[in-house]
Amino acid sequence: MTTTVIRNIDWVIAWDEAAERHAYRRGVDVVFAGDKITYVGRNWPGTADRVVDGKDRLVLPGLIDIHSHPEHEPLYRGIREEHGVPNMHMSGLYERSQAFSAPDDEARAASAEFAYCELLLSGVTSLVDISLPREGWVELFAKSGLRGFLAPGYASARWHLENDFELKFAWDEARGREGFAAALALIDNSARHPSGRLAGVVSPMQIENCTAELLRDSRDAARARGIPFTVHIAQSVNEVREMIRRHGKTPVQWAHDTGILGPDTILGHALFLDTHSWIRWWSKTDLALIADSGASVAHCPTPFARYGQIMENFGDYLRAGVNMGLGTDTTPHNLVEEMRKAAVLARIAARDIKTVTTSDLLHAATVGGAKALLRDDLGRIAPNMKADLVLVDLTVPQMRPVRDPLRSFVYHAADRAVRDVFVDGRQVVADRRVVTLDQEAAAERLAEAQRRMMERVRERDYRGRSAEEISPLSLQIAD
Ligand SMILES: [Zn+2]
Repeated sequence: MTTTVIRNIDWVIAWDEAAERHAYRRGVDVVFAGDKITYVGRNWPGTADRVVDGKDRLVLPGLIDIHSHPEHEPLYRGIREEHGVPNMHMSGLYERSQAFSAPDDEARAASAEFAYCELLLSGVTSLVDISLPREGWVELFAKSGLRGFLAPGYASARWHLENDFELKFAWDEARGREGFAAALALIDNSARHPSGRLAGVVSPMQIENCTAELLRDSRDAARARGIPFTVHIAQSVNEVREMIRRHGKTPVQWAHDTGILGPDTILGHALFLDTHSWIRWWSKTDLALIADSGASVAHCPTPFARYGQIMENFGDYLRAGVNMGLGTDTTPHNLVEEMRKAAVLARIAARDIKTVTTSDLLHAATVGGAKALLRDDLGRIAPNMKADLVLVDLTVPQMRPVRDPLRSFVYHAADRAVRDVFVDGRQVVADRRVVTLDQEAAAERLAEAQRRMMERVRERDYRGRSAEEISPLSLQIAD
């Protein structure tokens, strides 16, 4: 077993077990042997195989991203940032997913490799990857060096548009069942992977696209394996309206009645609750139902903010007792930017600077995510925790002056200051380069894949439009 010591670190964000919060420590050593942290304190007396100088470094726990779609989101770069449908309460989700879809498995693989690099370079060490099962997914994930929570998606229905104002559904329950069986096979296979870094999450895709039976069976399959269960819920006004039309209940109320809310449930987004100003339903129970069940929320502010939508608000969820985690639902896959946006948007929604603190956001991006994943050995720098560590360079200009390095990191430098990353004690980013994957080659393949995707848009779009008609360039190209 290899032992590494990071000596005399300028700043460490270490876990204070008594306070159950992160705290700064200065001038300490962090030691890890194999995949575990063994020592955090001054003047470690042992000898190590590798000694890393902690001068000019902030060492923080690896970030935990509990919601992402690496297989297709990078394909949307330059397409989705300003794409939205006003008649669908600004959401472009339904129109986009119908017209623009990853054309083949090679496109998905290129997109995923590119995304995994973005994630590692911004300090993410644990990732919930919600994707459709494909050949080579498990192998590529294992190669990335990330700690993986693979969430193969499936559903009983698909969204279907014939115009820009009515969300329709194409049901195929047998297909949902087949997807469920394939997902469980992939999850069980991942759990046996020799790296020991892979696990699964049971992931029926969207609350409105699944039957109650499929959701309950999914919950039971997750509980039988001791792994989490995740579903997209309350992610658009159209979805909330549809669930009220079907059941006379909000999506969260229906999920509660169906019996799928619990401490092992991760709710993707849960943004449009009955109290949200775009919903204003008569009941006021959604937030309490989530909190009382012990379910976690995966908050991903960026895609919603681009539509003009915000959670109302992160601080209220915390005070209600909801376990909050963070995710990257789109590109850039940058969890530090999500922390910054979550903080700023919560304050805008609340008109109150005190509604959340930077410490709250770091907690969500580490310990909150670990709790959602039912893992108490992640997200903390303390003995016996997994050696998932991020080394931030305090000499980059955006980190200076280094009065409060967490604030410098979250509000100023973000990924630009991430220098080295370790997962399970193994170095996966060295001197700002991913050592496990090839981002430049993936970028070339991604550009080719985007071209192939664009060629199919006209035949997929409900109005037969081109990609340029659906999402024009931000500036015209002059002669
Ligand atoms: Zn999502």
